[in-house]
Amino acid sequence: METVPAPIPADRDMLLKVRMVGFCGSDLNSFRGLNPLVSFPRVPGHEVSATILEGDDELRAGMDVALYPYTSCGQCSSCRLGRQNACQFNQTLGVQRDGALAEFVAMPPEKLYPAKLTVKELCLVEPLTVGFHAVARGSVTRNDTVAIFGCGGVGLGALAAAAVRGARVIGVDVDDEKLELARAAGASITINSARESLHHRLLELTEGRGPNVVIEAVGSPATFRAAVEEVCFAGRVVYIGYAKEPVSYETKFFVQKELDIRGSRNALPEDFREVIRFLEAGRFPVDDAVSSIVSLDEAPNALRCWSENPSRFHKILVSLD
Ligand SMILES: [Zn+2]
Ligand SMILES: [Zn+2]
Repeated sequence: METVPAPIPADRDMLLKVRMVGFCGSDLNSFRGLNPLVSFPRVPGHEVSATILEGDDELRAGMDVALYPYTSCGQCSSCRLGRQNACQFNQTLGVQRDGALAEFVAMPPEKLYPAKLTVKELCLVEPLTVGFHAVARGSVTRNDTVAIFGCGGVGLGALAAAAVRGARVIGVDVDDEKLELARAAGASITINSARESLHHRLLELTEGRGPNVVIEAVGSPATFRAAVEEVCFAGRVVYIGYAKEPVSYETKFFVQKELDIRGSRNALPEDFREVIRFLEAGRFPVDDAVSSIVSLDEAPNALRCWSENPSRFHKILVSLD
């Protein structure tokens, strides 16, 4: 921890007091020096709730907001298609540019999302949007059975989003605590793939066809492969997990099943609006989803403990109040 200069708001930027910052798996990777997108030194923090200090008539001083942590170039093919979440030159707070784990931050008004939510709930908006975006990419409807591989932070958002759309949701993980949380977040069925046969259970639950949509939120070669193997014929696969090594595939499934295989990265402003409506409706088990809240002084140690014992925490929030 060290002292940094107070941010100087550029052009239209508003000055904000940071209230809470969440840590996710990518922060843990950065802390361990294993995130290839991060150069050091780097201030972390992309899951943020903050209070406006200097606002205008619309975004008034004193309002609590969630932050949209991505910056896009406006010129690349993704940006031209309105898919700036997948900008070729994307910069995320705490990754390619300094983040918000500091007392103050300056941000342009279009990246501030006010809501009728607590600072703790506002801090969960960004991590949930990643799962909501994946469900949008999977074009999930109420007619679908959706299997979600991995019920950590990202998978949990996907579970909730698929349930909001009225789909039948199957949560898959190897950790019983995460599966319990998955049920609270909207999974009607859960499978512990360490104890049960994923293949047999999925067939049993879908009259032998397999789920219509599989969302992969783990990032391991085994789950990457299982997604195309378990999804039904003419099904959809969405990948959010970042594989840390090359994955070899039985590519005949792509053709035989005529699969739609889609990647999903970050989230769009519409995903932020959808998550805010969802949280405002009180439909997410916020308290169960947060495993600990620490002070700024305790933040370095919290990251160290998490790094030494990754399964012990699912969500750590840092309070700057
Ligand atoms: Zn994150
Ligand atoms: Zn771009």
